[in-house]
Amino acid sequence: MDNVVVQKLIAIVGEDYVSTRQDVLLAYSTSASMSYDTVLPDAVVLPQSTEQVSEILKVATQYKIPVTPRSGGSSLQGEVIPKEGALVIDLLRLTEIEVFPDLRSVTVGAGINFGKLDKLLNKQDLWLPVYPGSSLTATIAGNVAVNGSGFGSSQFGCIGELVLGLEVVLPNGEIIQTGSEANPNAPGPFLRYAFGPDITGLFIGSLGVFGIITKVSLKIFKRMHHFDYNTYGFNTPQEAEKFVIQCKENEISPVWIAIYEGRILDFFLEMVGEEYGVPKYEWPPITVSMVIGRIREDQLESDRAEAQRICVEEGGHVIGIAELPKGEWDDRMRELARSSYVHGWHWRILYHHVTPSQWHRTIEEMWPLFDEFGVLGHTAGFQSDHSSYNYYPQIFFDPQDAEDESKAKAAHKELVKRLFKTGAVPFKLAPYWVDGITEMEPYLNFLKDLKEAIDPNGIMSPGTIPGIEGED
Ligand SMILES: Cc1cc2nc3c(=O)[nH]c(=O)nc-3n(C[C@H](O)[C@H](O)[C@H](O)COP(=O)(O)OP(=O)(O)OC[C@H]3O[C@@H](n4cnc5c(N)ncnc54)[C@H](O)[C@@H]3O)c2cc1C
Repeated sequence: MDNVVVQKLIAIVGEDYVSTRQDVLLAYSTSASMSYDTVLPDAVVLPQSTEQVSEILKVATQYKIPVTPRSGGSSLQGEVIPKEGALVIDLLRLTEIEVFPDLRSVTVGAGINFGKLDKLLNKQDLWLPVYPGSSLTATIAGNVAVNGSGFGSSQFGCIGELVLGLEVVLPNGEIIQTGSEANPNAPGPFLRYAFGPDITGLFIGSLGVFGIITKVSLKIFKRMHHFDYNTYGFNTPQEAEKFVIQCKENEISPVWIAIYEGRILDFFLEMVGEEYGVPKYEWPPITVSMVIGRIREDQLESDRAEAQRICVEEGGHVIGIAELPKGEWDDRMRELARSSYVHGWHWRILYHHVTPSQWHRTIEEMWPLFDEFGVLGHTAGFQSDHSSYNYYPQIFFDPQDAEDESKAKAAHKELVKRLFKTGAVPFKLAPYWVDGITEMEPYLNFLKDLKEAIDPNGIMSPGTIPGIEGED
């Protein structure tokens, strides 16, 4: 990177917070993503305020330098790996938190992760009820940029559902505020859909291509202390799917619903069963692991009874093993993919959403494909919103075996195409999804027009959404 640019960056943030050292850049060339090529950026800068982010983007625009915003670096699909010659903007120094108890909302800087916020809210008997399995690393802003989900989403939806407004620095350095706080006189965040179109939504799941989120305002809730943990057995996927739909329909309040195919559950429990204290059991073909959470005990009692009644009505039986859902829920800040590291494997992941009634379709596509490509894999998932179910198939490979890894990559690519045909959708447009999309031209063209209007020099995260950015 031109020394003039480096000096300008130093003038904004100070010498200690700009680096072009190779060993430092190496850390920014990669992320938690496995099996994605690393790319060394030219420099990294660590701003401490929104104003500094703004000044940095003005410099990047002036010199047409590609920019990659980075928060926790925990994304799994190569999203945060920079472009060659890029400037990485590390946002972890934006650490403000402001709680608005009367508005039941909170505003956090882009550097705040889920674990840190939870610790603070817990002291006030509050919570942000969505926990990605990477909560101790993943930032809330980073999760908004990918529109992630996690434990709690079965009731509260993906993270985007909880966002009330964003502070964003646009590629030209302009700072905008969305939601009710766009009115500088507002007492805090209380309404997302203020002042016309949902500008907030433009940045949710955007992977940073339209600007840098510097603050996120979110809904928070009184913390639940009453939980029912149970497992329900079914002979067919269709029975389990109906059970899940009926539980939602009857406003039972499950904060966690996961449907497990028998062989997947065996595989999963082999990794974490002992740790969770799950007793040995002959699991049925399909098991639903469910946590109902309530503020009041009387509500919990009635939901528990209703869930059991629906289970039997749909042809299932109440298994009564609580350790599985309890283990998952108690481990919610680090559980989801952590179990995948148990044997030291590497894996590629393929997040997507389906409807609960289509739960069986992903399974039906996945197993034959794994056989076809000769790879080992599995999937788990959870109800992720009003009528969606979040799946995350993982394809394992031996990192020392190049052939094994290329088989995993090829299987991953093909699975996207087949899942798209089943009607599955991603929550963000990571590159591998664009490969699989074949029938959405007007939508992609509109995104491309938006990108050109907001970022005419194409500096923000180039290549992150191939197809809308021309060159990749
Ligand atoms: C063990 C493990 C478990 C996981 N479990 C889950 C899970 O349950 N649910 C889930 O959703 N994800 C999960 N993930 C994936 C990952 O943690 C999430 O995608 C996470 O939200 C990313 O946040 P981050 O702060 O690490 O973002 P990064 O990895 O730093 O960035 C992610 C993307 O957002 C962009 N970006 C980052 N910050 C900003 C910003 N402030 N403004 C604009 N763009 C930005 C980046 O350029 C990149 O494209 C898991 C990952 C691991 C390693």
